[in-house]
Amino acid sequence: VAASGKAEPLKVIISGAPASGKGTQCELITQKYGLVHIAAGDLLRAEVAAASENGKLAKEYMENGELVPNEIVVMMVKERLLQPDSQQRGWLLDGYPRSSSQAAALEDYGIRPDVFILLDVSEDILVERVVGRRLDPLTGKIYHLKYSPPENDEIASRLTQRFDDTEEKACLVKLRLRTHHQNVDAVLSLYKDITVKAC
Ligand code: ADP
Repeated sequence: VAASGKAEPLKVIISGAPASGKGTQCELITQKYGLVHIAAGDLLRAEVAAASENGKLAKEYMENGELVPNEIVVMMVKERLLQPDSQQRGWLLDGYPRSSSQAAALEDYGIRPDVFILLDVSEDILVERVVGRRLDPLTGKIYHLKYSPPENDEIASRLTQRFDDTEEKACLVKLRLRTHHQNVDAVLSLYKDITVKAC
C-alpha cells in the first residue's frame, strides 16, 4: 500500500488461531499504523454488557461457543467499519468474517480489505505453548518451560500450572483449532490475492 502511494487509510483483516499470538499482533499493528482495532467478539460483548436487544439474543450463542447469527453480527460489524474514526484512520478487523456468507456480506457493501493477514501456526506449536505455560504464584509472572524459562531454581520450584493449561486443555485447543481452520478455509478463496501468511 505504501509503495503504491495510496492515500486512503489502510484496511486490514487478521485471522489467527487461539494462542497464535493474534492479540499481540493486533496491538503492534494498530500502534504502528494508527488503525482502529475492531474485534467482532468485543463488539458482541459490549452489546451483551449493555443488555441491548442484540446483546440479549447474542448471549446464548456466545455462552455455548456457537457463532452468533449473521442478522446480528453483519450489521454490527458493518456499522462499526463505517464509523468516522474507522473511515479516517483505517481499520484492523479481527474475528470477522468467520464464514463465506459473512465475507460475502462485506463484499456486497463494497467493503474490501487491502490485506488479509493469516497467522499460520502449526497445531503442535500451539498445543506446546499452552501445555508448557507456567505461573509464578508469587509475582503473577507467566513463564514457558521451554521458550521463557524461570530465571533461577527458587522460582522454578514454585511454578504452578494454570488449571486450564492441562492436557485436557490441549484437547480443547485442538477442537477450537479445527473450527478455526474451517472458518479460515471458508473465506480464504475470496481473499487469496491479498493474503499474507505469517507465523
Ligand atoms: P473466540 O476466539 O473464543 O471465539 P471471540 O472474542 O473472537 O473469542 O468471540 C467470542 C464469541 O463471540 C464467539 O464464541 C462467538 O459466539 C461470537 N462471535 C465472535 N465473532 C463472531 C462472528 N464473526 N460471527 C459470529 N459470532 C461471532
